[in-house]
Amino acid sequence: MTDFDPRKANSDKDKDLDGIIRPQELDDFTGQKEIVSNLNIYVKAAKMRGEALDHVLFHGPPGLGKTTLAHIIANEMGVNMKVTSGPVLDKPGDLAGLLTSLEPCDVLFIDEIHRLSSEVEEYLYSAMEDYVIDIMIDKGPGARSVRLSLNPFTLVGATTRSGLLTAPLRERFGINCALEYYDTQDLVRIVRRSSRILGVTIDDEAATEISLRSRGTPRIANALLRRVRDFAQVMGDGHIDIGIARYALDKLKIDKRGLDTIDNKILRTIITTFKGGPVGSNTIATAISEDTGTFEEVYEPFLIKEGFILRTQRGRVATEKAYRHLGLDNEYESRKADEPTLF
Ligand code: ADP
Repeated sequence: MTDFDPRKANSDKDKDLDGIIRPQELDDFTGQKEIVSNLNIYVKAAKMRGEALDHVLFHGPPGLGKTTLAHIIANEMGVNMKVTSGPVLDKPGDLAGLLTSLEPCDVLFIDEIHRLSSEVEEYLYSAMEDYVIDIMIDKGPGARSVRLSLNPFTLVGATTRSGLLTAPLRERFGINCALEYYDTQDLVRIVRRSSRILGVTIDDEAATEISLRSRGTPRIANALLRRVRDFAQVMGDGHIDIGIARYALDKLKIDKRGLDTIDNKILRTIITTFKGGPVGSNTIATAISEDTGTFEEVYEPFLIKEGFILRTQRGRVATEKAYRHLGLDNEYESRKADEPTLF
């Protein structure tokens, strides 16, 4: 079996299911309590004033619900949403077309907003601030700029790499939300809700097992649930119990701590190639053939949160937990004897 990467596990079929599973209202959205309760207030206030909601920026690792919240905002505001992404919007003209098509209070969702070209980004400034854009008409000597007024709208931006956002763009978002990894309790609720929608029965223990192995991420929890459901259908009667859940998750090479093949590769690289660290993120990223930003903003946060890696001034260090997780207890003891201050 090829390695299962739940971060990239969405086939077209899965995407269809995503649409069904995706919560539609703030009340349906589990976790991220503070963000949800604040959004509830902001949406209600904007509706009472009959105004567009202030621009919203969501940032955090993939799969935590940024796109879902954007859909929910449009839904709760009772407006339409246009969806695009940073890399798709390569010319200011594309942006102008989208902006002029928005009805009052509509939502424009730009995913991967850190990947906008600087030219397009500059166009956004006046659109966000004053609901106007200046477009150039004609070329050469006859070229002139025309100012177009836009309907008031809400820009919802999502990014996994908030560090790459320019200050002028970041400052133009009135509402800034950092999404956090989910705790197991919240993930269990999400898995139970998704099972209900998919029409599959699941034991509490099995839902907990899937949640524990989901890297704190709803997208991964849902992807694992769908794959476990396949095993339950083919190998059993369709019901998901703990036995089937454990069997399927082991087959998918998701280990007991929820780390997948790439996470384990990162830990093994730090420990065996770089003697446990300290080692710079650039070096680790190169060793696992990833770019540094993706390593720092997608893979590393979970490993730090779970206590497998420490971020020190001299670089990343693998913790005792990481050595023990990989069964490298002897390496840990000898490393600790060499450099006791590291741990
Ligand atoms: P992001 O945009 O942050 O990458 P998405 O919003 O696309 O993440 O969410 C990924 C999947 O996880 C979606 O199928 C969505 O239904 C599910 N999901 C995310 N957050 C939640 C949540 N809080 N409750 C239930 N399902 C969620």
